[in-house]
Amino acid sequence: MVNWLNKVFAAGERIKAAIRKRATKEELEKSNYISCCKGLVSKKEIASNYHTCPYCSKHFKLTPTERFEYLFDKGIYETFKTPIPKDDPLGFTAVKAYKDQLKSARKKTGLDCSMVVASGDINKIKCTVVASSWEFLGASVEAAEGEAILYASLYAIENKQPLIIVAQGGGMRMQASSISLSQMPRTTLAINEVKAAGLPYIVIMSDPVAGGITASYAMLGDIHIAEPGATVAFAGKRVISGTVQEELPPGFQLSQAVLDAGFIDRICHRKDLNKEIGKLLSILLNKNSISTEDINETSENTQQISKTA
Ligand SMILES: [Zn+2]
Repeated sequence: MVNWLNKVFAAGERIKAAIRKRATKEELEKSNYISCCKGLVSKKEIASNYHTCPYCSKHFKLTPTERFEYLFDKGIYETFKTPIPKDDPLGFTAVKAYKDQLKSARKKTGLDCSMVVASGDINKIKCTVVASSWEFLGASVEAAEGEAILYASLYAIENKQPLIIVAQGGGMRMQASSISLSQMPRTTLAINEVKAAGLPYIVIMSDPVAGGITASYAMLGDIHIAEPGATVAFAGKRVISGTVQEELPPGFQLSQAVLDAGFIDRICHRKDLNKEIGKLLSILLNKNSISTEDINETSENTQQISKTA
């Protein structure tokens, strides 16, 4: 009798332990499923839907390669090698040495820095596009990323192409202190040159856009388009809630709330970005191919997305 009871208790403890044990990051990466609204959703299904959930439209993070494939006509584009300044001039070490963090980020992503510059057609209009990799130190910005934006701005000006930046990242990279912070005025000046050349500058906001990124190049666009559910913020929610000593409303800092507050212009599902930006560029560049119906259709699409996002 006692043996039987002991076995039942032991089995119960094993089940409890299994429930308590959370999957490791490596286990989640290897799994064929992602946890979303309907419980487990297959990664294949999400990948075939522009890396968005087919049920709740949650937008998952993209690599720069995936971003360019979705954004450019037929996924055709060329990328450029941008300047990489000397690594870690301050010799910063916290839990890990910054040099080692850079080394593992490069190994993980195959990139030299978190930003990639590309050029290709959107609605048959040659554009320069910058995209970031979240896997590269949270797409934070340091000297090399500043160089990438400068390179893209100069390339856009020299080749008379509109500039599109897919803004994403937690902000300026704290491991490089003021070197990172100085990228805010540097990128702002570069964007000003693009504008002085009379070229359109469009910002796409992909979750999350925060800190110095919001306080510089991400907020200088002629048009700001956010993906559904993207966080667009300067300070984080916890900091604000702690400062004002109040509970923040649901959806605070998410793209719909930011759109309602007039901080951004549009919300657009990733699958429609090529079409949407193509139409907007046709309007901004006064291309003859655009009709009044196209303009109305663009506006209606965006309103519908805003309601459902
Ligand atoms: Zn979902």
